[in-house]
Amino acid sequence: MHPDLKTVIELQQVDLRVAELTVLIDSLPAQIQTLQSQLDDFIHTHEERKKRLAANQKERKDQEGEIKVIQEKITRHKDQLYQVKTNEQYRAMLKEIGGEEANIRRIEDQVLEKMIEAEDLQEHVQEAAARLEGEKARVAGEIKRLQGERQTDLDERERLQACRKELEAALDESVRNLYERLRAGRNGIALAVVRDGLCTACNVWLRPQVYNEIRSNDALLTCENCSRIIYCVEPPAEQTEGNGQSAGAPA
Ligand SMILES: [Zn+2]
Repeated sequence: MHPDLKTVIELQQVDLRVAELTVLIDSLPAQIQTLQSQLDDFIHTHEERKKRLAANQKERKDQEGEIKVIQEKITRHKDQLYQVKTNEQYRAMLKEIGGEEANIRRIEDQVLEKMIEAEDLQEHVQEAAARLEGEKARVAGEIKRLQGERQTDLDERERLQACRKELEAALDESVRNLYERLRAGRNGIALAVVRDGLCTACNVWLRPQVYNEIRSNDALLTCENCSRIIYCVEPPAEQTEGNGQSAGAPA
């Protein structure tokens, strides 16, 4: 194989892996942020429910106090029933007592509603309290794992970048420039594999003469259609699928 061709193939592999690692590395802070926000939301909801439950308990206590005050009023009014002088006063007093009793029923209904709400809140608060420590530990563990993963990726990228420098230095300047120009203009893909005479990057047939020339990979040639540097990959020896068989043995 042409030494420059061998080097650009390696360089391409390194560059693709570097690009892949960069995507992973750049995506990790957002993933960590998402996890953290989920935990924050969980805690916030829990705290809000606890506040609501405390408020509910206070409201119920207030309403029970209110009921007590009205009950005392009713007792007083019932005592006064014996002291009224006219039927008219008696009826007015009864009406008042009736209104007070209706008031109590209304407040009791509200207390009942609040009790149902409190039960529901209590259930959620207890469930969240039981899960909270576990959730914190899970998120902390997950964040630690992601940070570790990110460090591993950073280390690998650094190693590859050093390796890349060596590969670049080994290349002839014109080949290096060609590679970089192609890489910049073709989404990072400067090379194309040729299979059965077809450039697999642009799906255009090579002229037989060009195909012949690159089958042994002894020359550094480019696809006449997409301009990528082309090279041949021999089908695996034991391949029995259509692809390998129809190609005929390249050897
Ligand atoms: Zn092509």
